[in-house]
Amino acid sequence: MAAQRPEDPTPGDGPAAGRVRGSAVERITQRTSRTGGCWLWTGVLNRDGYAEIRIEGKYRMAHRVAYEELVGVIPEGLQLDHLCRVRHCVNPEHLEPVTPRVNNLRSESFAAKNAVKDQCHRGHLFTEANTLIYRGKRTCRACNRIRAEASRERRKRAKQS
Ligand SMILES: [Zn+2]
Ligand SMILES: [Zn+2]
Repeated sequence: MAAQRPEDPTPGDGPAAGRVRGSAVERITQRTSRTGGCWLWTGVLNRDGYAEIRIEGKYRMAHRVAYEELVGVIPEGLQLDHLCRVRHCVNPEHLEPVTPRVNNLRSESFAAKNAVKDQCHRGHLFTEANTLIYRGKRTCRACNRIRAEASRERRKRAKQS
């Protein structure tokens, strides 16, 4: 008996259901929080920290979908480079199609620049020995010592006076 059933009976997964719930652009818009020019993805992120969206039952990188929907087709073999360096940003204006080679070079030079910036506001380098991770944030041990000494001094003076 050939039952007349649609190919994909799962509700909400078929292409038709996708259209009913809104276009990809609408869904992307609903899942972003826009701050400082970036469209930060509030939905699922993949292991590498890129935004993921489910379209017609398949997971796709949301920034690629946003670019294709709002700008145009990504030329074959090209990757979208995040000019803002925020991986879960899906703002097409922050994306540029580049070859994988250029993309790698850029992220390397970004890492290098960040390494140079790796110092506290007083200019102490965040070397392994000088770095303390406190509540998920890097803390400079040299600065901690300076602060501890300053508060010792303050206490001493408070006692003397
Ligand atoms: Zn951005
Ligand atoms: Zn410091």
